[in-house]
Amino acid sequence: MTKQYHPETLAIHAGQESPDPATNARAVPVYRTTAYNFNNSEHGANLFALKELGNIYSRLMNPTNDILEKRLAALEGGAAGLTLSSGTAAVYFSVRNILRAGDELVSANNLYGGTFTQFDAILPNENIKVHLTPVNDFKAVEKAINAKTRAVFIETIGNPVLDVADVEGYAEIAKKHKLPLIVDSTFTTPFLLRPIDYGANIVIHSLSKWIGGHGTGIGGIVIDDGKFDWKDKKFALYNEPDGGYHGLKYATDLGPLAPLAFILRLRTVGLRNQGPTLAPDAAWIFLQGVESLALRIKKHSENALAVAEHLAKNSKVEWVRYPGLKGDPSYKLAQKYLPNGQGGMVVFGLKGDKDGKKATKFVDNIKLFSLLANVGDAKSLIIHSASTTHSQLSEKAQGEGGLHKDLIRLSVGIEHIDDIIGALDDALKLV
Ligand SMILES: *Cc1c(COP(=O)(O)O)cnc(C)c1O
Repeated sequence: MTKQYHPETLAIHAGQESPDPATNARAVPVYRTTAYNFNNSEHGANLFALKELGNIYSRLMNPTNDILEKRLAALEGGAAGLTLSSGTAAVYFSVRNILRAGDELVSANNLYGGTFTQFDAILPNENIKVHLTPVNDFKAVEKAINAKTRAVFIETIGNPVLDVADVEGYAEIAKKHKLPLIVDSTFTTPFLLRPIDYGANIVIHSLSKWIGGHGTGIGGIVIDDGKFDWKDKKFALYNEPDGGYHGLKYATDLGPLAPLAFILRLRTVGLRNQGPTLAPDAAWIFLQGVESLALRIKKHSENALAVAEHLAKNSKVEWVRYPGLKGDPSYKLAQKYLPNGQGGMVVFGLKGDKDGKKATKFVDNIKLFSLLANVGDAKSLIIHSASTTHSQLSEKAQGEGGLHKDLIRLSVGIEHIDDIIGALDDALKLV
């Protein structure tokens, strides 16, 4: 059905072509089953040999998850998607679906805290070197790429100062070096930016944030554009026989399924043998989120812009960063990549707050905002990043990423804007 409909329509229908064939249930059912009957032995054998695609066991696939995967793949303009147990698992297993020990990754350095730690401390222990480069510094990217590089990684809007990545610029470099570009688009969602339109190959989301949208579940998804050429011999995981799958070579042995090589490998090696599966109950929660995402992300963006403009006018505020704020260092890139809204995140600092004492007082006293480590809830959220989400980073790494002790991070919710601004003003009076 998919392509001819607008995104708002796809968000409600894609992946579910008709009501549940067994029951006529209109909503997507939660298929709470561990396994699926084979019609006969031959059917079972074909499924196991990838000669036929179909349900085997819910660690690898589930009809509820399948609809969510198809829906988000349609929204991103991708060929296929795969849900995983968390956004963190989506990042880790995407990288490990391309890189093996001895390979190298080039990444922007303005990352989500957990991803930064994964790249900075976990992957090096697995003998994968990660070159962290300042966002949009293409000279540094070119310099970091070498014969061992296997992928380039960025976030659309980075942490913590909300710099917008020049996705097209990264895609050009990746393409020139025959490398896949992996883009974590959690902060933008397919309604603000579709990285594949600008040349990205792999798109990742934490479903736990705006897509779920209500702070009610943990999940992740990976979407593949289906166009990257894995036959290049440097991608050993695709060109050497997989001992765990009777010698299958993903780049060359999949026949008509070749465009799905990345997702099929992630399913067979990642989910089947390493097990970071998303429960169908959680997939169902995220399907509810997707259906209203277009409306919510618009409201998040409108409220965040209003908050940023309001804070910028306050004499106690030293600085504000929001990609949609006129004069913001990312404003120009936001005009290009995020014309329909610049997302729900705003960060700012207070005057005379080098040590962050006013910031902690502010977050401890504000009403309405929840003090917690999450983003993308319908509720407004607040946190002091330096002492929490990015506290694992050294002070040097924090500084390089643009994080200073005074930074207050807001995830602006969809409450009435007057109430949100009222809460900020009341808290400002106390500092
Ligand atoms: C939250 C988040 C993640 C991790 O997702 P989880 O679902 O919490 O594991 C990764 N990247 C970004 C940009 C995030 O905001």
